[in-house]
Amino acid sequence: MIRDFGKVTPSFVKELRRIVGDAGVIYEDKGALEAYSHDESGSKFYFRMPDVVVKPEDAQQISKIVKLSNEEGIPITPRGAGSGLAGGCIPIYGGIVLSLERMNRVIEIDKKNLVAVVEPGVVTNDLCKRVAEDGLYYAGYPMSLETSFVGGNVATNAGGSKVIKYGNTGHHVLGIEAVLPNGEIVEFGGKRRKDSSGYNFVRFLVGSEGTLAVFTKIYLNLIPLPGKTIDLFIPFRSVEDAIDSVSIAVTESKELPSAIEFIDGLSFRISAKYNNAKLPFQDEAKAFLIVQLEGKTRDDLERTYEKIGKAFLSKGAFDVFIADNRSASEVIWKVRRNWFESLRAIDPYVPTGDVVVPTSEIPRMMSFIEEISESYGVKIPVAAHAGDGNLHPAPLKPSHIAPEEWKELSEEILDKIALKAASLGGAVSGEHGVGFLKKKALSETKKRELELMKDIKRLWDPNGIMNPGKLF
Ligand SMILES: Cc1cc2nc3c(=O)[nH]c(=O)nc-3n(C[C@H](O)[C@H](O)[C@H](O)COP(=O)(O)OP(=O)(O)OC[C@H]3O[C@@H](n4cnc5c(N)ncnc54)[C@H](O)[C@@H]3O)c2cc1C
Repeated sequence: MIRDFGKVTPSFVKELRRIVGDAGVIYEDKGALEAYSHDESGSKFYFRMPDVVVKPEDAQQISKIVKLSNEEGIPITPRGAGSGLAGGCIPIYGGIVLSLERMNRVIEIDKKNLVAVVEPGVVTNDLCKRVAEDGLYYAGYPMSLETSFVGGNVATNAGGSKVIKYGNTGHHVLGIEAVLPNGEIVEFGGKRRKDSSGYNFVRFLVGSEGTLAVFTKIYLNLIPLPGKTIDLFIPFRSVEDAIDSVSIAVTESKELPSAIEFIDGLSFRISAKYNNAKLPFQDEAKAFLIVQLEGKTRDDLERTYEKIGKAFLSKGAFDVFIADNRSASEVIWKVRRNWFESLRAIDPYVPTGDVVVPTSEIPRMMSFIEEISESYGVKIPVAAHAGDGNLHPAPLKPSHIAPEEWKELSEEILDKIALKAASLGGAVSGEHGVGFLKKKALSETKKRELELMKDIKRLWDPNGIMNPGKLF
């Protein structure tokens, strides 16, 4: 599907400037272009300079840019905040990086229909804060909510800590306005909550990673802000005890916990140090769970955590600690949320996997990661959204291995882990997307589905200009 693409020429750039104005174009400025050459997957290994960056302000401008590029056969890579971990917004064939950063308006908070209408460049946390002012909640946010954009979340079908109760980003997308590769602007779905009239294009576009269309407007489901919440912090004597206890949190709660997060001892200590946090048993424990409960009343919550607490203790927890105020909760969540940043601080070469398995297979997946760690002689700290079976193994580069050798080796390790996840009924990515880093693993695990995806891609984007080299 990859062909010889057209070249970005000065006259092409002149046309772009005519569409978006001088302030919306970066060209021949190496320093400024560099910022758009990578995402967070590891700029030391994975980057490619765009030929030109355009920063449109509305769907009409995008339509004109896409039409022009389609005629000239020039690749377009949509870019949100660039916080991706799969290389999705890296322009691996050059051409245009189409940055959505200037399309950052919350267009409407429709309280009657409980719908937010936003442009794709809205920072996810800005939306969460904005709707909270009206007593509402946007539950589809990932843990990178302070940096990522809503458009990027939709394009990767992001997840986060609350998927077990509320589902991932895709569950909250009611509609998408998109610019197709021929420049046409089409609205799929909208404020309506049901639609049995034909194929569901909204679900289909969610997770398409910029390979089919540029999203220009998104309709999101809102719910009332949850009542009271409480966070439990539970240090365990072994990884197995912690993992085996995940199901307890589900079965013993009166309703689903809103989060069940796992972090192993090594990860915890690195992140606690990075965040200047001091928590009980942080030096002794081999693994930790963070469980968040929501309830209508304080009594409700107390009854639930009493029950869960006893069950955790019977499963080898050192103790069960309750954070029932904002600052105590924030300390715990900071350690979990900044886990990957803390690893990067000690190892700039650390990559992260993103495998998902049925939750009952988490113990087998963890054992496999341990086997791989031993056989390669590589430490692999793991953090996981344990409630939904999504694990992030992050192999640390041993000091004796040179960076280039490490690139190959870490890719091999993560591919092996991804294939194992698929063999357990899981998938090679649970929330970060495939980008180009998981293409190999995807091609080995979803063979027939991939052929069907390629058929759709050919039909939808016959010139192959939309984010080429991703997924396939
Ligand atoms: C510290 C850290 C923590 C993270 N935690 C999580 C987490 O909990 N859950 C999770 O899911 N991810 C997480 N991520 C990964 C990342 O934040 C998500 O993948 C996020 O959804 C990417 O959004 P973005 O705006 O940065 O998109 P980008 O990285 O800019 O782009 C991602 C993909 O979306 C496409 N795209 C972007 N905008 C559009 C658009 N408007 N139209 C069409 N295609 C578009 C791009 O082409 C690319 O393929 C984390 C990353 C970091 C660095």
